[in-house]
Amino acid sequence: MQRLYQAQDEIEAQLVCDYLGNAHIPATVLGRYQSAAAGELPALAFPWVWVLEDRDLARARELLREFLARRRDPRGEPWTCACGTRVEAEFDLCWHCGRERP
Ligand SMILES: [Zn+2]
Repeated sequence: MQRLYQAQDEIEAQLVCDYLGNAHIPATVLGRYQSAAAGELPALAFPWVWVLEDRDLARARELLREFLARRRDPRGEPWTCACGTRVEAEFDLCWHCGRERP
């Protein structure tokens, strides 16, 4: 198991975890609860994303870079679906009718 990324909070950690999972890289979030149990200051206990299989680490780092880059620069503007719904840039599917981004 390899430590990959220290997240700002558990939500971000879970997003990274899910992103890796989508690429079939098993990952998990550890940190806050374990650290709290050990008596550390909560402020120091940001959650970490861990990659379960050592061999996935290089690939996981690439995906992490992608993830962070995409978040800084979400792909452009909101788009308008064929059904007329306006969809935020970070979504590839229309929430109204389920069509893919054209
Ligand atoms: Zn639609």
